[in-house]
Amino acid sequence: MTNSITINGVTVAAGQRETIDLPLGTLYTHAPLSMPVHVICSKKTGPRLFVSAAIHGDELNGVEIIRRLINDKAMRRLRGTLVAIPVVNVHGLLHHSRYLPDRRDLNRSFPGSEKGSLAGRVAHIFIEEIVKQCTHGIDIHTGAIHRSNLPQIRANLDDDETSRLAHAFGVPVLLNSTLRDGSLREASAELGLPMLLYEAGEALRFDEVSIRAGVRGIKNVLRELDMLPPSRRKRKPTEPVIARSSNWIRAHFSGVFRAVVELGTHVAKDQLLGVISDPFGEVEYEVRAVFESIIIGRNNLPLVNEGDALFHLARFRAVADVAEKIDEFQDDYHEELMDSPVI
Ligand SMILES: [Zn+2]
Repeated sequence: MTNSITINGVTVAAGQRETIDLPLGTLYTHAPLSMPVHVICSKKTGPRLFVSAAIHGDELNGVEIIRRLINDKAMRRLRGTLVAIPVVNVHGLLHHSRYLPDRRDLNRSFPGSEKGSLAGRVAHIFIEEIVKQCTHGIDIHTGAIHRSNLPQIRANLDDDETSRLAHAFGVPVLLNSTLRDGSLREASAELGLPMLLYEAGEALRFDEVSIRAGVRGIKNVLRELDMLPPSRRKRKPTEPVIARSSNWIRAHFSGVFRAVVELGTHVAKDQLLGVISDPFGEVEYEVRAVFESIIIGRNNLPLVNEGDALFHLARFRAVADVAEKIDEFQDDYHEELMDSPVI
């Protein structure tokens, strides 16, 4: 088997790298629109991994992760083929929006169809031109707008190959998540393609730790797939722990919200997480943890309506061990940031 790959009629031969524009039709301004795809095709045969970001057009950490990944000098030693798609939902990104202009969620529109809705058409192009040509995939997300996620991997851990890659990624928390209707992950699973979802940070923001952990995580997966030679780093990647389950704590009242715990905090049952009050402070409602857990997602907007999701809590068997791993993980990256700040 050769490594060469043909996307939209453009063949990238072994030993070449190329940027290909996948046509998505035109905007109503008459301007043509395309999804940019960067392909690195090694002379040495190996798996074909796609890495995609911004399926939700306002989730930007992945765009930066891919920019750094494809410019990383380790890519010179790549085996197999890397197909990088920094912006899948181009329409959404242009509008700083999660959705497409038809208000559909692209990650609920897979596998899509040639004659379907705008979202369905974009999904169909992505499946036909990218997913069907690859052997593995990593899709990068962040929390929704005003919500941030602790770096975490969500995947179908009941599948051995997927689980192996999820463990290799090197972030402390794994969620064994059931497949969602119409998601890229579900469509990939139906094609027999192991896929990870990396969730980290907040929509419309860059989070440096999430970005660095994402670049390193993808390189760890490339090593696990034998697409990169073993690391020379002395430090081993974090051995992750699988959450038993997770739940969102929602606001019982509308009001001004103050959070008192950070992402990654180990909280006891009934521990105070935040307070909701009216603007005069005449009434105050406490938000408390309903079980001992780790905070893996958090709302950052101080204005909440009754029913809004405030904290995402994950249960673990040995929660103190997980908390220790998360502390180590965060300390490592913060130390690294002091030594080599953002350029
Ligand atoms: Zn997303």
